[in-house]
Amino acid sequence: TIGILALDQDGNLSGACTTSGAAFKMHGRVGDSPIIGAGLYVDNEVGAATATGMGELMIKTVGCHQVVELMRHGYTPEEACREAVERIARKLGDYKKFQVGFLALDKAGNYGAHCIHPGFNYAVRDSKGTQMTDSKSKLG
Ligand code: ASP
Repeated sequence: TIGILALDQDGNLSGACTTSGAAFKMHGRVGDSPIIGAGLYVDNEVGAATATGMGELMIKTVGCHQVVELMRHGYTPEEACREAVERIARKLGDYKKFQVGFLALDKAGNYGAHCIHPGFNYAVRDSKGTQMTDSKSKLG
């Protein structure tokens, strides 16, 4: 999945995502990306979130909605992403088999990400330029 979250100069949030789908997927499978709340969620009062990884897990937990609601209740973007990942990991048991990652941006321009496995990078573009950032991960 490629997810993009943005905060414009007037303080408005927006987001978009696409998907590569899943390898060996069943014909007709719908992943998380087109489902609002699962692979993408934006609330202009609070923040925005997008996800990558095994879409069924984001759908079952309405993961991106959960990340935004956690930010509404005071979590930083990184804390919210970590909690959403860890809830999924707790349900899965053997979470090492699956990849799940969330990226979030709040109304103040704070951002963060978390994934189960290391190696999930994201780019940040602001008035200072563009930089690559490593998300925190549960395993690494
Ligand atoms: N989230 C996508 C899906 O499950 C896969 C991906 O591109 O990360 O369809």
